[in-house]
Amino acid sequence: MNSRSICSGCGSKRPGYDRLPERRFEFIPTWGCKMFLVYSPRRVDCPECGIRVEYMPWVEGKRRLTEAYAWYLAGWAKRLSWKEVAEAFHTTWDHVFCSVERAVNWGREHQDLSGVEAIGVDEIAWKQGHCYLTLVYQIDEHNKRLLWVGEKRTVKTLLKFFRWFGKERSQALKYICSDMWRPYLKVIAKKAGKALNILDRFHIMAHLSKAIDEVRAQESRELKEKGYEPILTKTRWLHRPLLLNWFKAKKQLSSGIVDGFNTKAKLTTRKAYGFRACHAAEIALYHALGALPVPETAHKFF
Ligand SMILES: [Zn+2]
Repeated sequence: MNSRSICSGCGSKRPGYDRLPERRFEFIPTWGCKMFLVYSPRRVDCPECGIRVEYMPWVEGKRRLTEAYAWYLAGWAKRLSWKEVAEAFHTTWDHVFCSVERAVNWGREHQDLSGVEAIGVDEIAWKQGHCYLTLVYQIDEHNKRLLWVGEKRTVKTLLKFFRWFGKERSQALKYICSDMWRPYLKVIAKKAGKALNILDRFHIMAHLSKAIDEVRAQESRELKEKGYEPILTKTRWLHRPLLLNWFKAKKQLSSGIVDGFNTKAKLTTRKAYGFRACHAAEIALYHALGALPVPETAHKFF
């Protein structure tokens, strides 16, 4: 290796300065044996960056796993739980987690967000209902995937989504499937005013049956007087335009897509044992449901 090294700071060819001690970079195991690439990285004397370690195409920064191995582990983590991947390849849960995290970060930086017309807003309970994650899916006919995960289910959470998604893209949304939680409806009306808000069938039914129960309770109390009239009127007028939207868009979109994703999301968080934080759950969800792109070079390792 007498060629000039590349500075990891600016990517230019620079004269060598010295060599660092040997480092071991873990590669994909072969026939059950761990494989390491052993190399003494050179340092370059860069007029712009100073003394820097050379750029090494097989590894990122100070990491121990090669890019190839990280993508390989991330690929397996789509089929097995992180714990199972760690066991199968005699590595640690942390290495699997870091690999998946890298894959997710790369994928989210390189994903194409153009042409999103329909989204669904959903939530899942996390840590036995002690915290919630808000999930936003793209539910267009040609592309269904998880777009965004946020902690909690507050107005702020949904605002964060729209901030991330961008004003132009939000304005271009045509359909939004969401439940009947009123703060959400307000945010949607403000940020994506052109979209048709479609309430999902499950929540409509839940609300209707609740309304019916209330009516029945009231009926028994006030049978002789006004009966259920006030509540029915309220229900009918508050939700009617949105219910009509659901019927209008029914032929093109089905809230069943969101329900299907919800089942998968719950399965993902349940399957991924050892989650210590919401962050890990978010990474797992993006990895499983985000349909994220992978670099060309990673394909050959799967
Ligand atoms: Zn440089």
